[in-house]
Amino acid sequence: MGTYDDAMTISSHTLEQLRAILEGEKRVLVVSHYNPDGDALGSSIAWARMLEGMGHTVMCVVPNRFPYFLEWMPGIERINVYTERGGVVNEFASKADVVCCLDFNNIGRLEGLAEAIEANAGAKRVLIDHHLAPPEEYFDVLFSYPETSSTSYIVYKLISRLAGSEAVDRDMGTVLYVGMMTDTGNFSFSFLTGDLFRIVADLVNKGIDIPYINFKVYNSYSEGRVRLLSYALGPKMEIIENGQAALISLKENELRRFHFKQGDSEGFVNYPLSIEKVKMSAMLLQNHRFIRISLRSRGDVDVNLFARRYFDGGGHKNAAGGKSTDTMEETIERYKRAVREYFQEEGIG
Ligand code: 5GP
Ligand code: MN
Repeated sequence: MGTYDDAMTISSHTLEQLRAILEGEKRVLVVSHYNPDGDALGSSIAWARMLEGMGHTVMCVVPNRFPYFLEWMPGIERINVYTERGGVVNEFASKADVVCCLDFNNIGRLEGLAEAIEANAGAKRVLIDHHLAPPEEYFDVLFSYPETSSTSYIVYKLISRLAGSEAVDRDMGTVLYVGMMTDTGNFSFSFLTGDLFRIVADLVNKGIDIPYINFKVYNSYSEGRVRLLSYALGPKMEIIENGQAALISLKENELRRFHFKQGDSEGFVNYPLSIEKVKMSAMLLQNHRFIRISLRSRGDVDVNLFARRYFDGGGHKNAAGGKSTDTMEETIERYKRAVREYFQEEGIG
């Protein structure tokens, strides 16, 4: 098997470090990122199930509400939303023995939840993630594999190493599949290894219902979402830099017009990239505190670097994000100037 097939190897040393931390019965907090997506939720739920199976007491938390089209996921009821259940989470976090950070590596992506974790300096920190450049000193044990397509894939591999793949039941398989499917754009982006598809085959054999999952995640939107999409791609999409970059901006009052709910703009940023010449796409989404920037690119155009340099963010090479506390007009101008500078420096165009 070539290296492309096996993009991650869990070292026995790291596994032993984890086993040592999980010796005995522990209180474990499983944490994932702001604006939780299918991978954040799927990997958290499956990992929590695994830890409980090992005899630990587990609490899952995410900083804010997840999209409504993921509410059907088996086990979603165990996810605590910090903005809704802060007291309960703080109480557990202050006594946790272990904190597992899944699907992010930068504590800034936890918003207010970061303080609850930092307040308990005694807890061991475990990272399970596929984002670039983790701050290694922050964690006691790192399962960091940036060359993999999802954290859910890593969690499947980790569970298999700890307890055998039989430990993944149908419900765990379903939520892990959601993570693998959404983070790969329905198996069309990068790191699509033979190993990933073998795992999908195993999940199919466990009885996961792919057409049902697909329907729930991709075809269960509100009418407002579909009309907002048409508005975003019609009046609001701008093509710049000689057709090679795009942006969509949506202000709070525009979102309200379409009865916007958390998750409604999921995937919008990908559409401009379906134009042959477009190499970078951005969506600027305003909330009451700041503007979130979602970035996507193709090929060698690196939006992780772009997000780090211009928008205090990061992510992966072809999918990244950041934020701005300026006005929408200023943020749009900053994006346009940044694209021009970046394309010039990188010799794109
Ligand atoms: P999305 O556009 O789907 O919100 O995010 C795309 C990717 O960029 C995800 O992998 C996400 O983890 C990462 N990302 C989004 N926003 C931020 C941010 O503010 N900081 C960092 N470091 N990564 C981000
Ligand atoms: Mn992910």
